Amino acid sequence: MIMVSKNLKKLNLLYVEDDETVNMIFSSIFKKYAKNIYSAFNGEEGLELFKNNHIDIVISDIQMPKMNGIEMAKEIRKINDTTSIIFTTAFGDSEYLKEAIEIGVDAYILKPIDKDKILKKLNKIADNLVLKEELEKYTKLMKIVFDYQTDGLILLDKEYNIILYNKTIKNLIKKDDKTVFDFIKSEVSKELKEKSINAENERVESISVSFNNRFCELKIRKIYDFILVNCIDITHFKEKIDEIEDKSLKDELTGAYNRKKIDKIIDDLKDKNICLIMLDIDNFKKINDTYGHLKGDEVLKSLSTNIQNNLRENDIFMRWGGEEFIVLIQDLEIKKAKEVAEKLREVINSIEIEEVGHFSCSFGVACGLVESEFDFDKILKQSDDALYLAKNNGKNRVETHWK
Ligand SMILES: [Mg+2]
Repeated sequence: MIMVSKNLKKLNLLYVEDDETVNMIFSSIFKKYAKNIYSAFNGEEGLELFKNNHIDIVISDIQMPKMNGIEMAKEIRKINDTTSIIFTTAFGDSEYLKEAIEIGVDAYILKPIDKDKILKKLNKIADNLVLKEELEKYTKLMKIVFDYQTDGLILLDKEYNIILYNKTIKNLIKKDDKTVFDFIKSEVSKELKEKSINAENERVESISVSFNNRFCELKIRKIYDFILVNCIDITHFKEKIDEIEDKSLKDELTGAYNRKKIDKIIDDLKDKNICLIMLDIDNFKKINDTYGHLKGDEVLKSLSTNIQNNLRENDIFMRWGGEEFIVLIQDLEIKKAKEVAEKLREVINSIEIEEVGHFSCSFGVACGLVESEFDFDKILKQSDDALYLAKNNGKNRVETHWK
C-alpha cells in the first residue's frame, strides 16, 4: 500500500476506458484519492467531459470505439497543451507510440494496470502540478508586492538581463527607454564586479546615478542567482541639498560667492590656467564713517550687481572679505584679464549712489597655471600684491603682476 499524496485530493481526474469492469474498478479507486473523478467509455465521451469540466489529469486507454485515446488526446491538446495525460497501454499498442510521443504524454502504464504503479505516477504528477501552481501564485504575488513599492525595483538575472520591474520604475524610466535600462545594467554590473559581491554575502551596495534629469540612489543586492536593485528617486532631496549648499556658499548681503566657494571648486581648477582679479573699494572706511553702514552696504550691493551683470556665465565672483572682492576667470591671457578689469573699473566709476555719489575700486590682476592648491595661493598673493601697487599708485586703477 503506497502513501497517496494529499495534493492528489486537490485535482480532478478524467478516466477513459472502454472495458466496463476495469473502468468501474479503477474509477472507484481514483475516487478515493482525487477531488473528483469523471469516467468515460470512449474518446468521444471523454472529450465531451473534458470540454465541460476542469480536468487536471487525463488517464486514458488507447484502443477504444468511436474515438481512440490518441485522437482524443490530440483534441485535448488543442484545448489545453499542458494538461497531464497518462496512457494505459496494452501489449500491441506500440504502433501508437510515435504519435503518443508527439502529443507529449506524461506517462504510460502497461495493462493490466498495477494499482500502486498508477497511484505512484499520479502522486508525482499531482505534486508537480501543485508545485507549479504554487510557483505561479508566488510569482503573481511577487509582481503585486513589487508594484506596491514606492521604491523603484528591478530584478535581474546573473547575466544582468532584466526579469521584472515595477510600476515606480515604469514611471521613472519610460518603458521603451532601452538606453536607460542599459545604463542601469552597466552601472550595476560595474559596481558588482568592482566590489565582487557574491551570493554568500548579501551585502547591499549603494551608488548614485542620474538619468532623465533625475537623481537616483541604486541599492544593489545579490539574492541567490538574482540581483535586486532598489531605485530611490532622490531628485527632490538632491535639489534641496544643492539649494542649501549653494546658499551656504553665498554672501548674504551681496549675493556674491564667499570664500568657501574656492574649497568647492579647487579640484576642478587643477591644471587650468586662471586669472584672479582682486578689487577693493577705495576709501570705503570714509564712506561708512560719513554716510553710515547702511549706505556702505548699499555701495557693496550695487557694486556686486554691476560686476555680476558684466561677467560671463562661467566667471566666478566672490566677496573675499569686507570691501574686497575677487573675480576668477579661466583660460584668459593676462593682457585680456587686464582688459576685463579695466572694463569693470569703468563700470564701477559709472555707478552713482544717492548721497554718496560716485566711488571707485583699485584692481590687482595675476594669472597662472594651477598645478596644486599652493599655486592658487601663489596667484592670490600675486593679485594682492598688484592690488597693493594699484593703491600705492593712486587708486582707481588696474595693476598686473607680470612674471
Ligand atoms: Mg480498450
